[in-house]
Amino acid sequence: MDLHLDRITLVYPDGASTLTAVDDVSLTVPAGTTTALVGPSGSGKSSLLAVAGGLTRPTSGTVTIGTGPDAPVLSPTTSVAEATRVRRDHVGIVFQQPQLLASLTAVEQIELLAHLRGRRPSSLRERALELLDAVGLADQAHRRPAALSGGQRQRVAIARALATRPDVLLVDEPTSALDHGRGLAVVELVTSLARECGAATVLVTHDESTLGPVDAVVRLVDGRLVADGAADAPLAAGAPVAG
Ligand code: ADP
Ligand code: MG
Repeated sequence: MDLHLDRITLVYPDGASTLTAVDDVSLTVPAGTTTALVGPSGSGKSSLLAVAGGLTRPTSGTVTIGTGPDAPVLSPTTSVAEATRVRRDHVGIVFQQPQLLASLTAVEQIELLAHLRGRRPSSLRERALELLDAVGLADQAHRRPAALSGGQRQRVAIARALATRPDVLLVDEPTSALDHGRGLAVVELVTSLARECGAATVLVTHDESTLGPVDAVVRLVDGRLVADGAADAPLAAGAPVAG
């Protein structure tokens, strides 16, 4: 299912005044494709991801997953319970820090999330091992986080986010702690898994040297989407990657 962000604005209270972290952003991410979201620190990338994933309600605008009268929608009036349901049933999130539980093995991390989200226990182990294989960690399934490298932990978090077969995959700066080669490998992995799983994927990064594999790149400056290279031209949808 496609992810549609329609005129999203997010305003945080900031002392006596307010801070507009996301300013009238519209973006469509087709199912199975990856859009990279780039921009300087503080430009609103994580805030936009939080709105797209139902972690934060937009101040105005709507997020729609798919189309038609039954499509899940997140809006300023969506209840917390409904936002939680949409997130649980439709969204996979990979945070900047992998947030793995120290006491669980790689395969258990993936099983636990799917289990908490109501998947049948009998199918969990098989699916978890499949996913670990897909991220190149079949032989690390029974290791705990302390025995994995930073890149391997990030791969476990990616596999975990896909365990519930989400329609939307949101990945926040997965490469920030990795060197160029490993960062590029993670972007390649996310892009190919998005295609295989049919997930509409948004990948935040500030490392623009790793954007080769993605389908589109959009840039945020001060909360606004701008055309690549032109800081004042608004952009309604994902722009194709140049070259
Ligand atoms: P990025 O991910 O691009 O670095 P963020 O979305 O984290 O940017 O932040 C955008 C702006 O919103 C920044 O000015 C940041 O300080 C502010 N901000 C982020 N989260 C909050 C919050 N929970 N409350 C208030 N201000 C916030
Ligand atoms: Mg951020």
